[in-house]
This record gives sequence, C-alpha cells and structure tokens, in this order.
Amino acid sequence: MDAIVTPLSIQDDSLQQAGPPKLKVFTAKQLNKIPQFLSLPTEAQLSVRAAAEVFPFRVNQYVIDELIDWNNWQADPMFRLLFPQKEMLSNEHLFALEKATEAEDKKQIEETVKKIRASLNPHPAGQMELNVPRAEGEPLDGIQHKYKETVLFFPKQGQTCHSYCSFCFRWAQFIGDKSLQFAAKEALQLVDYLREHKEVTDVLITGGDPLVMKTKNLKAYVETIINAPGLEHIENIRIGTKALTFWPYRFVTDNDADELMELFESVIASGRQLALMAHYNHWKELDTDIAKQAIRRVRDTGAVIRSQGPLLRGINDDPEVWAKLWKEQTKLGITPYYMFVERDTGAQHYFEVPLVKAWEIYRQAISSVSGLSRTARGPSMSASPGKVEIQGVTTINNQKVLSLRFIQGRNPDWVQRPFYAEYDESATWLNHLKPAFGEKQFFFEAQ
Ligand SMILES: *Cc1c(COP(=O)(O)O)cnc(C)c1O
Ligand code: SF4
Repeated sequence: MDAIVTPLSIQDDSLQQAGPPKLKVFTAKQLNKIPQFLSLPTEAQLSVRAAAEVFPFRVNQYVIDELIDWNNWQADPMFRLLFPQKEMLSNEHLFALEKATEAEDKKQIEETVKKIRASLNPHPAGQMELNVPRAEGEPLDGIQHKYKETVLFFPKQGQTCHSYCSFCFRWAQFIGDKSLQFAAKEALQLVDYLREHKEVTDVLITGGDPLVMKTKNLKAYVETIINAPGLEHIENIRIGTKALTFWPYRFVTDNDADELMELFESVIASGRQLALMAHYNHWKELDTDIAKQAIRRVRDTGAVIRSQGPLLRGINDDPEVWAKLWKEQTKLGITPYYMFVERDTGAQHYFEVPLVKAWEIYRQAISSVSGLSRTARGPSMSASPGKVEIQGVTTINNQKVLSLRFIQGRNPDWVQRPFYAEYDESATWLNHLKPAFGEKQFFFEAQ
C-alpha cells in the first residue's frame, strides 16, 4: 500500500476533515466564484469573459489552486491553457460579440456565438464524414476507424473533461450541440464491429476524457471488450486522458480509484497492454505530489503511460519546456509519444506555430535529451490524409525544401515514404504547403 494517499497539498482543514477532495468545477457562469480570477485587473477579466462565450471554459479547484501561478498569471502556461483570451477571437468576431452584448439581447448573443462557432471548423480533417463506419447503411455513432490497426471509441458518458483546454478541437462536443456529438449507443455495437474487423489490434477509448466516467461505467465498456469471444485480435486497450493533469485524485483518493486500478489490472491479466495516452502540455503538470502519486499508482498496475500533446504558442513554444517535460516524464516512467502541431480548428490563429519553427523547437528539444526520451515523434499534423511528420529542412539541387513523411496514412501504403514541399516559413498546416520541384501535386493527392 502507498503510505501517502492523503493529498498533502490541500491546506484547508475543513476539506481534510471532510475526507478526500471532491471535484469542484467552475464554468463561465461561475467565474465570479473564483477569488483568484476576481483579483485580476478588470480588463483581463473582461477579456476572459468575452472569450468564454465562444470557447470552452471549465476549471476545477485543483487546477486553480495547484497548477496556476496567479502571481505571474500573464505568462503562466496553465493560465493560458485554461482561460480563453479575447485575442483568440478575430477582430470581426469580437466586434460582433461586443455589439450583441451591448444590446443586452440574449437571443442575439446566442445567435452570434453560434455563428462564430460554426465558422471555427469544429470538425477538422473531415472526421465527421470520413471516418465513421456504417453498419447496414447506418452510421455507427461513437466509432471512428481511420487507420487500419486502431479504432477510436467515444463512450457516451466520456465526452467531457475535468477542465477544458481553451484550444481544444473537441470543443464542438462540449458546447451542448447534440447533433455534433459522437456518442456511442452501446459497447455491443463496438464489439460487433470489431468482430468483423480482424485487422484491428488497438481500441482507443477517447473523448473528451473517458476517465470522467465512474469506474463502473468505464468497466462496462472495457470488460465487454476483453471478455467478448471473437475479440482475441484486440491486443491493446488505450485510454486517452488528461485526468493525470486535471484530476489526479481520480487515480488516488476518489472513492472508485481502487476499482479503476483493478480494472487496469484486469486488462493486463487478459494478456493485453493497457496504455494511458496522457495529454500533457507542460512540465508544470507533473509538479504536484498528487500528480506524481497518480502516475506511480497507474504504473503499479502494469499499465504504461505514453504522453502526447500539441505545441502551442505562448504555452510551450520553447525547446527547453519540451526537453524538461520529456525528461521529467521519462524519469517518472512515462514514454514520450507525440508532439502534435496545433490543428486547423478553433482559435488556431492564436496558438499556431509555423511548421518550420515547430521543427526547430522539436529538433532542439530532442537533441538535448537522452535516447530514452527520444521516443517522441513529431511535429506531427493530424490531417485528412493522415498523420504527417515534419522531418526537417534540407537543400536538394539548390532548392530549400521541407522533408515530410506519413506516420499514419489513410492508405497504409503512404506510410514512411519521404516527400518534399517548398520551403515556407509561414506555413502552419499541410494545406499551406506546395509540392517541391515544380510538381503539380503531392503523391498522395494523385489517388
Ligand atoms: C493518432 C490516431 C490514431 C492512433 O495512431 P497511432 O499512431 O497508432 O497512435 C488512431 N486514429 C486516429 C484518427 C488518429 O488520429
Ligand atoms: S483534455 Fe483533451 S479533450 Fe479535454 S479539453 Fe483538453 S484537449 Fe480537449
């Protein structure tokens, strides 16, 4: 048994007497209940209030008290991750929003917000149309199958998070528009699909954050998969989560934390790998005692933790931040997995880092860590044809080019074939790039 399961960071005696900390969340309507927020200059508060009309906003007591340095809020990466800013809106959108707010017309505000959101590409890379499989002509809700080996599963109750990242591309699922919600009807539909698809080895349960669910609900899905006859080809169960950052108590003191650890153990006992695909943006997320305890407990079950996260301007666009993140992770037994390029959705213009700069950050970071941390691939764009990695800048026949490759492709035959784009310092996404050497199109566009 772990000797230290009580979160030492909680100073409030009344909380300690009341037992383990309970998740207490604040949404945009409850900004007034966050004392640290109310201590910010009025201007800064107004900025957050305007942006929170459009972008996802939800924080909890732990992230407010433990992860944000309020004395240095302007530069604080966790503040910037969690509190949307008015600069995330275009001038035109901000103007429209201010006009609607001035008029104090609720309906007009609602409609303006809806219009702005719809223009922010809530489902990038065509994921709504392209990757949802069908059975008897009907789309299978809650399932996406893009790459041969891996099926994504979005359980209905896991489509939210313990806090929200303001850049999140899953935001269309959080803002209450049910028609955009990928929600699973039931695990049995998934099992039927997997039985028919023997090429699948991995099921990635994702969201939102599936670990928002009570263990008993998650267990219903996971046990169905590991116990169903005919699913012996499923070798790895992955769970995408940010709970190690946003609510580490989930693994340590929540009243179903032990049961969650047992569930992880049962996956491993079935002969499979259980991998937590943990979303991290900054080493600060690893800095609290409770975060470390949570990692320790997960690893004690035999589960592995792999880390991935996007490169974001103003949050982690610094090689030293990535190097420190990867080193800390490696030390704690987490395997660095992907560095992503911020996607073409939401407030991309606010967070984006040009591809060339992203590669430079990656290169500097990776070259300053030991081989154990060089497992992180990237910078990688999850684009419509696949995951495309920027391999570097080079000169071929006196022409400066970007060298790229598919890590994953809609067509498996595309994987690991180098291809080249004209050097472009301002490009921030695949569709900005032009084929090098005067070619009319990239090789994968010919099919
Ligand atoms: C990244 C991703 C996966 C998993 O790919 P791995 O390289 O195996 O981690 C699966 N499906 C989609 C749609 C993805 O974007
Ligand atoms: S944890 Fe992931 S799904 Fe949740 S808000 Fe952040 S980026 Fe989005």
